[in-house]
Amino acid sequence: MMKRFWRWLLLPSKKQISQMFRERLREMREISITAHGFRVEKLDDGSVEHDVVWRRLEDIHFSPEKLVLIRNGSVYLEIPNEYSGWYALVQQVPVGYPGYDYGGVKQFFASLAGCDVCGLLAVTSHKCLSCGSDVWNEQLAQEYATREAYVREKQLDLFEPSGEDETIDIHNCAEGGFPSDPAWRALVTEEEIRENMA
Ligand SMILES: [Zn+2]
Repeated sequence: MMKRFWRWLLLPSKKQISQMFRERLREMREISITAHGFRVEKLDDGSVEHDVVWRRLEDIHFSPEKLVLIRNGSVYLEIPNEYSGWYALVQQVPVGYPGYDYGGVKQFFASLAGCDVCGLLAVTSHKCLSCGSDVWNEQLAQEYATREAYVREKQLDLFEPSGEDETIDIHNCAEGGFPSDPAWRALVTEEEIRENMA
């Protein structure tokens, strides 16, 4: 309880937070795969921003930052990697696009390392693409007594249920295009998460 109180005290006001949250939500997009392509939906109102059909695209270009979709000889749409579901999407591009670097996509995913916090193979450039955690580093070593303490705190947040009706579920099942790391073990227990929420 005290921990939460101090956290609130140090943060901006409730009004500022809800404004920041609304602004951020307005920019957020979610990708869902459809029978013939994929959809980009706005997270704030759930409206469909783009409904893309694979066969209408001439070509697709991949980079770890974005997908570039080509139609009628020019750029039709760019899909940045910040969109939720992007890492699953890039692995589901149908074969046959001349400019799509299928090998590069495979190589990119094969190069990802395991995340101590969420247990998915999603770490590149010292950051997890799935849960957003930083890999243990010198700066974190000044904030936390041990690497284990850091991972435990992140896991307490990560596995805390978002709604009151949700049960605590500690797992590292493949998600968002990232496979699970078989070597991963959670450092927190259900009971510790429940205590942390109290
Ligand atoms: Zn992670």
